[in-house]
Amino acid sequence: MAKTVLVTGASRGIGRACAFAFAKDGYRVGVNFHTHFADAESVVRAIVQQGGDAVSLQADVADHAAVSSMVRALGRVDVLVNNAGVACDGLLQDITPEVWARTFAVNVNGAYYCARCVLPQMLSRHDGCILNVSSMWGRVGAACEVPYSAAKAALIGFTKALAKEVGPSGIRVNCVAPGVIDTAMNAHHAEATLSALAQDTPLMRLGTPADVANALVFLASDGASFITGQVLGVDGGFVI
Ligand code: NAD
Repeated sequence: MAKTVLVTGASRGIGRACAFAFAKDGYRVGVNFHTHFADAESVVRAIVQQGGDAVSLQADVADHAAVSSMVRALGRVDVLVNNAGVACDGLLQDITPEVWARTFAVNVNGAYYCARCVLPQMLSRHDGCILNVSSMWGRVGAACEVPYSAAKAALIGFTKALAKEVGPSGIRVNCVAPGVIDTAMNAHHAEATLSALAQDTPLMRLGTPADVANALVFLASDGASFITGQVLGVDGGFVI
């Protein structure tokens, strides 16, 4: 029987690439989206056209009840990819409590709600894999991105603690810490800024969504069966 992966925020960017990469690896894919229905449907259609199996699932990951309904609707989940995320720029003194709260609600609470909803079935099967998409800024911090850096650092702590808690139950928990990836999240940066970031990267380029998706597929695979609680940098060597 094909395994099922649930990818949050899968209508575009890294989540979209992840949906395609897991489908190519033979997974049935739950394509979660919050507001981009048409984009999620086009991911599902493309996967089905390529002979795969996928379904779109609407839920705001920051809403526990919505996440719970989504997981019930999907049924079996072998691999959860907590990819949905939001970023925010600005000096800390200019960040409103609302923006701070939303950054944590989506990036951190979302991962917690999704993990909480899939864990009972994984625990009963004594098998499963939870993957979190953190960021290199969660490892080293970024000026003018304090809420985002703090939320992504929280995901690293979440990964390590949960890996210890559920490892004896046969469930692995890991995270990736992408560098600068060429997606809509970075579209507001000037071309010169993106080019400077590429120059600061030892591998001299920005990452692609597929770079991150490939690492996630590896971490979910049997080849990674002795890997848990780890933070895998997918950043071209930006953080070494
Ligand atoms: P993106 O903005 O294209 O994708 C984010 C996705 O999350 C979108 O599909 C969005 O609709 C979805 N999303 C946002 N809020 C949601 C919610 N409440 N419920 C459900 N879905 C929601 O950007 P991306 O670069 O593809 O980001 C994917 C993940 O990778 C994020 O967690 C981001 O923080 C992380 N990341 C990105 C970079 C980068 O440079 N692009 C670097 C490090 C980490």
